[in-house]
Amino acid sequence: MDIIEKRLKEELKNSYSPYSHYPVSALVICSDGSEYAGVNIENASYGATVCAERVAIFKAVSDGKRKGDLKELHVMVGSGRVGTPCFLCRQTIGEFFDEDADVVCYSTEGDKKEFKVRDLCPFPFGSEDLMQPV
Ligand SMILES: [Zn+2]
Repeated sequence: MDIIEKRLKEELKNSYSPYSHYPVSALVICSDGSEYAGVNIENASYGATVCAERVAIFKAVSDGKRKGDLKELHVMVGSGRVGTPCFLCRQTIGEFFDEDADVVCYSTEGDKKEFKVRDLCPFPFGSEDLMQPV
């Protein structure tokens, strides 16, 4: 188990997932070497739940990081299987990561799958899709 897997496994303990019992941890690694960890944070009002990936990304962005700074995203789910980011998270990943950035998804059992952002987000909706004011 490499150091990132160990870190993700440790972070899983911080997941607040009393409703789904589906803990998730995420780690954003930036080009300057800084790291931002996140976990899923659920809510009795389910729609207020936030995924681990977005918590980690938002921590980086709120610290001043922008597209081009975020280089890798690592995600671990506690179900025993490898999970991939939901589509809300994929939209957020597309906003803040370059299409050739790496997304690595881990199980707690040593399995992992590696993707490029372009693979997870093949037809992204971005700022260029917004209508321009006339
Ligand atoms: Zn998500």
